[in-house]
Amino acid sequence: MESKIPEASIKCEARRAFLALCSPKTRLLHDPVSDPYVVCGHPNPSGLGDADCFSQTGSWGQSSVLFPKLETYRTADKCGRAPYGGAEYGIPQTPEADAMCRKIAALHKGHGAVICPSGLSAIATTLDAFSPKAVLIPDNVYGPMLRFLNRRRIKQIRYSAGASADEFRSVLLKALSEYSKREDLIVYIEAPGSGTFEIPDIDGMIAIAQNAKLRTVMDNTWASHVRFQPLEYGIDIVVQATTKYEGGYGDTPSGIVIAKHPQDLQIIADELRATGNGAVAPTTCSRLYHRIDSTEERLNQHADTAQRLIEWFLKQPFVTNVLSPTLETSPYHERFQHYFGKGNGLFSVVFRPDLSAEHVEAFVDALNLFWVAESWGGHLSLVLPVHAKREVTSLPDGYILRFHAGLEDYQDLLRDLNQAAGCL
Ligand SMILES: *Cc1c(COP(=O)(O)O)cnc(C)c1O
Repeated sequence: MESKIPEASIKCEARRAFLALCSPKTRLLHDPVSDPYVVCGHPNPSGLGDADCFSQTGSWGQSSVLFPKLETYRTADKCGRAPYGGAEYGIPQTPEADAMCRKIAALHKGHGAVICPSGLSAIATTLDAFSPKAVLIPDNVYGPMLRFLNRRRIKQIRYSAGASADEFRSVLLKALSEYSKREDLIVYIEAPGSGTFEIPDIDGMIAIAQNAKLRTVMDNTWASHVRFQPLEYGIDIVVQATTKYEGGYGDTPSGIVIAKHPQDLQIIADELRATGNGAVAPTTCSRLYHRIDSTEERLNQHADTAQRLIEWFLKQPFVTNVLSPTLETSPYHERFQHYFGKGNGLFSVVFRPDLSAEHVEAFVDALNLFWVAESWGGHLSLVLPVHAKREVTSLPDGYILRFHAGLEDYQDLLRDLNQAAGCL
């Protein structure tokens, strides 16, 4: 199939020509460069090369789970579990899903976990399971979650993205004056936020929430189990988009909910059984099961490459700031070291406010190895503008781009940034 617009194929030629001069490591990650119009914008299997053939032979979900006798079936149907592990019905929790959930729950030292078809569905399942009237959320919360809260008519009560314990306490006290029942309120933490990377006083917030006997939920996607284990800090429930770093190649759309307490896990599992929203392809679960073993090594490489790119950006005259809690100059650096210790592939660049949007966007379009795309944590380097709807905190002046450093050779990425900087 031919590209629908000639510019797209010209740009593909430029990318291929650039790639030909890259190291073997970078070439293997990007080859073959596909025209997004031809492959509907999906980077795999190009990114996975031959590995994709193997995944096609994996087991697929089977709706029927067989029982030797009526009595075995009756027992399984009552509790929702087959005696062999997995669900009594094949769609929601396959043996592959079960294995993946046990592994990630163990890594987080949780009581257990469930898997959902996306990170967003893990968030939605958790909130639907407890159906609060209001949720305390950071001002920089993952954007699509706001759409979910609006849709469910759950009231959003915002606290500042980098809140101190005192700031959080005053927001909570006000909320408690309106919602006095424990079940009406959930304290939701996401840190660092995935566009501007603020970090609140997590320890302080947990202590305040526990004191008020409120349930705490944390979106731990930025950190994954490698960088932070929220349950050990006193969080009740962790949600993670395993679409991102755990899978690591953008081919594991899924989300996980890990609960500390058996009662909470049961409520979440009941929600999934009632809605059927726990159906995840066994192939996805087995990919995750194995990729989790290499998450730490990949994260370290993403982080090392991001540091090199950050150093480059900090030296450029068109940049006023780089947002990353890994930098000593970040106001969140101390909290970052206390909780997370090491970064990942993400950082954001603030461009000089006098630069026009056209200039910055021409820079983005001149890049060959960085693709414009949502969802990060995969093998390919990405770039995307940061648009955040803030209510209690403001964004810095100037165009902001978020970068994800992929697994390419960092020298190739620097060469690409250098040639695109000609536009600025
Ligand atoms: C991507 C992301 C999600 C949602 O994950 P999907 O699998 O894309 O639905 C949730 N939270 C954060 C912080 C994310 O970055």
